[in-house]
Amino acid sequence: MFLDHEKKTRPLHLQIDNLSQDPSISTPVAQIAHAALVSAEVRTHDAQMLLEKRSRDAIDALLAMAEALMYIPRHISHEDDSAGETFVASMIGQRIVDITHTILGCQRVGIMAVDSETEYLRPIAVVGLSPEAEASWFANIARFSLLDILLDHNLVKLLQAKEVLLVDMTRPPFQGSSNPYNIRVMLVAPICVHHQLVGVLYSDYGSEEHIYTEDELSVIKTMTKLATLVIEREQAEAERSRALFALQQANEQLSRVNKVQSNFVSVVSHEFRTILTSIQGFSELMRDEVCSLEEVKEYAIDIHSNALLLNEMISEMLDLERMKSGQVLLKRDQVDLTSLLTRVINSIAAVTPRHTFHLLLDENIPTLSADRDRLIQVLTNLIGNAVKYSPAGGEIFVRSRIEGNAVHVSVQDQGIGIPAHALEQIFVPYYRVESESSRYITGTGLGLSIVRQIIEMHSGRVWAESTHEQGTTFHFTLPLVI
Ligand code: ADP
Repeated sequence: MFLDHEKKTRPLHLQIDNLSQDPSISTPVAQIAHAALVSAEVRTHDAQMLLEKRSRDAIDALLAMAEALMYIPRHISHEDDSAGETFVASMIGQRIVDITHTILGCQRVGIMAVDSETEYLRPIAVVGLSPEAEASWFANIARFSLLDILLDHNLVKLLQAKEVLLVDMTRPPFQGSSNPYNIRVMLVAPICVHHQLVGVLYSDYGSEEHIYTEDELSVIKTMTKLATLVIEREQAEAERSRALFALQQANEQLSRVNKVQSNFVSVVSHEFRTILTSIQGFSELMRDEVCSLEEVKEYAIDIHSNALLLNEMISEMLDLERMKSGQVLLKRDQVDLTSLLTRVINSIAAVTPRHTFHLLLDENIPTLSADRDRLIQVLTNLIGNAVKYSPAGGEIFVRSRIEGNAVHVSVQDQGIGIPAHALEQIFVPYYRVESESSRYITGTGLGLSIVRQIIEMHSGRVWAESTHEQGTTFHFTLPLVI
């Protein structure tokens, strides 16, 4: 599709009038009928006679197409989404170019959509090309903008002003460019929706000299009106798909929030209440019973440790909220991961004699740019969980190694394991696996969410593997160069 640069070489500009302004022809079918009327007025000239004959043949096809335009998209787009609608658009677009081709008796007709923001083109339909040329047209047209093809802002503006352009291809600057069909004059008609250029329809008669009659131009105008409906419909459907997608996203987000909320309620009603009940029980004993000083001290110690636990849980909740809302920034430093791992393992091993630790650490891991305290929090949570969820004791393996541009750390236990369906869920705030074996193990379901948040803030990844009732392995990676 080529156009002449020089204004003086354009034989004709035609203002496309808005047919829908006439109330009697405001519907697509009425517009088609109007086109038929226009065609029927062709009487005088030989070419007009021919046009009239072709028009009559095409009217039935036009009406059938208008029907398709009205009804087909509903069936297809309900089952499928924008892909179905694109299929419908190109199917009807193809019928428009085929009918235009038949009525005008020209060599080629094509329709392309124009993106209203970027002015890039999108192929809709073409007729008159060889199969190879057609495939290449469909494959390549999207690489071009309207300006790439028209080469002149003024020509784009003329199309935007709803003018039909007739271009002499034998004149500069097009006469030097590739013209495999020896096209002499190219017609380019705008397709507009609400004064906005949304596509173009073009046609040519090859090397044949052809003067477009008013009636032929009328037919082209009608075809651009039909193409407008196709593109409008496609745009509306794309809009609908986008809205549907946004709605689905919002629903998913809502169901995630609901899940977190119901997990939260269950944690508060179970974990927090258990601790509060214990505090309440000990304080009632102290209030109502005659207790020795030793007993009072003993109860006070229990109350104190339960209060500390409650405080810790609340801190975890607030900490996660602050991290998620972006209020926490990492305090990066050069961190020696191997010594951090050894430190955390030693401090946990000191209080859990039933577990044996095996350290398989790569001594050559370079220092990482990371937040030391946050990494300690990650290691304490993962190694603490390995201990907490192997209540019968067992062996715990902590490994570290370099993998490509990252360091990979894993913590493996021989504990109660995690069912496959929960391996991702455990990273959701307040989620706790409900099972007979974990019933008496307290927690908020926040530790792993905090771990994931911290690791992701370091651009790393964390995940879990588990064989039910045989143990769990947690893995995380951290990039070596940040
Ligand atoms: P909490 O331990 O406070 O409940 P976490 O976020 O640390 O919270 O863990 C979430 C859930 O994942 C735990 O409730 C538990 O069901 C499961 N889990 C975590 N670590 C392990 C592990 N090493 N072995 C088995 N289950 C685990």
